Amino acid sequence: MISGQASVVISHKVWCGSLRNPKEVMGNKTIGVCMLVLRAIWETGGTATLEHPLSSGIWRLQGIHSFLGLHGVRKVRLHQCMYGLRPSDDCSARYRKATGLILVGGSPFRARTCDGSRRHVPILGTVTRCGPNDVQASVARSHESGVHPASLCRCLAKFHCYGCCRRR
Ligand SMILES: [Zn+2]
Repeated sequence: MISGQASVVISHKVWCGSLRNPKEVMGNKTIGVCMLVLRAIWETGGTATLEHPLSSGIWRLQGIHSFLGLHGVRKVRLHQCMYGLRPSDDCSARYRKATGLILVGGSPFRARTCDGSRRHVPILGTVTRCGPNDVQASVARSHESGVHPASLCRCLAKFHCYGCCRRR
């Protein structure tokens, strides 16, 4: 079911990463497996999404570029501030969080990019917030901003649901 073409993601001919950095090697193995799964879903006509920060090195991998060349596979850019991603200590501010999405399947998806209408807080440092039993805890902003806002989840669910409905 998975053709050899997908293995180009982790082929030494197109991969330019370091074999000395264990974290980088693990990351490349993980994205290689993700691409194989996405490819298998594409071959069956299913829908899939892969979300990653736009600043990530994965967008430079040739395997990603060749996958994006397949019919029905596209990349969109969005800012999670437009979906309501905000710090827990300032409800009027937003985390901008530039994000890339690989969309497998022809369902519509309207990617929202920052319109500048909100103040942004950098995803740096920690935020103190109230936890269970009113105990205050420090949470890294990077951790807090890693949770997708509900509005983005609904848009992603709509993307996947649209694909299901069309197959019926
Ligand atoms: Zn914004």
